[in-house]
Amino acid sequence: MNDLIIAGSGPAGLSAAVYASNAMLDFVVIEKFPMSGGQILNTYDINNYPGFEQIDGFSLGQNFRKHAEKAGARFVNDEIKSIERTNGGYSVICGKNRYETKTIIYALGAAPRKLGVKGEAELSGRGVSYLATCDGNFFRGRPVAIIGGGDVALEDALYLANICSEVYLIHRRNEFRGAKYLQEKVIKNERIRILYNTQVEEILGENKVESVRLNNGQTLYVDGVFIAVGSQANSSLVEEFCELDRGFIKADESCVTSADGIFAAGDVRTKRLRHICTAVADGANAVYSVEEYLKKINTQ
Ligand SMILES: Cc1cc2nc3c(=O)[nH]c(=O)nc-3n(C[C@H](O)[C@H](O)[C@H](O)COP(=O)(O)OP(=O)(O)OC[C@H]3O[C@@H](n4cnc5c(N)ncnc54)[C@H](O)[C@@H]3O)c2cc1C
Repeated sequence: MNDLIIAGSGPAGLSAAVYASNAMLDFVVIEKFPMSGGQILNTYDINNYPGFEQIDGFSLGQNFRKHAEKAGARFVNDEIKSIERTNGGYSVICGKNRYETKTIIYALGAAPRKLGVKGEAELSGRGVSYLATCDGNFFRGRPVAIIGGGDVALEDALYLANICSEVYLIHRRNEFRGAKYLQEKVIKNERIRILYNTQVEEILGENKVESVRLNNGQTLYVDGVFIAVGSQANSSLVEEFCELDRGFIKADESCVTSADGIFAAGDVRTKRLRHICTAVADGANAVYSVEEYLKKINTQ
């Protein structure tokens, strides 16, 4: 039986892997994609991770992974399908294998939240996208709309302004939520047309996006719609064990959850700021909590 399974290899899981190696725990990291990094793989410009003035997410993810591997971490490429409680801890059931463990650092992160309007699901992948950095190139020289007002929406607008013919940034409030320096860049960018206090009511098109209908009656003719309205925790695999708050696993900085032996790290837990530096901090704290927990159960 393993001391620990680290579920997910985004920034939180990768940081936990370095700390767990240093703590000489017997553990495995399980990641469903062949590549580590999680959401940062979709970020082309990171300038708020200390030590790197500017780095793309792919490179940072690979640096994290190499560091963890050098420290001694073992990675398995498999998808976790379910988790069951056992006598000694938990069984982590994956597509190819099953792993017995005393503890889990649950770091499965988050996925983009859906907007929930008519046409979104039908035209997803046909002009509706949640990842500007992956799909933006398909809309080179064409008009697009971005929906949202946080960091990701602002970053997407700046990225798309470099490649698309027209960029509409649609936000339901009268000011953005995202970082002030991003707001300044967006407001100064003459290629971005900002529509405050505006909501999209429907995304229209026969086989692909053709336009969006706004709540002010206006129709914008665009080829692409990028939705950046926040994230949704990937917490479903532990919802029967852990207390949740609007889908996020309830845990403070210690990463201790309401379920013995399960520790939640990164975007998946309740917290104020979902960023790389807070995710890596969680990875470290979670391992510290795992060590305390193992000491306790080993002396019982
Ligand atoms: C477009 C975009 C831009 C961003 N830009 C920045 C930025 O500039 N600066 C910044 O600080 N933050 C940025 N963020 C936020 C940052 O990416 C997240 O806070 C961070 O990635 C959270 O790390 P995590 O490890 O908690 O989760 P994630 O990064 O979501 O990693 C979760 C991992 O778990 C894996 N996984 C999920 N389900 C399973 C399963 N069932 N089985 C096995 N593995 C699974 C996933 O494949 C993934 O590798 C950005 C986010 C996005 C979406």
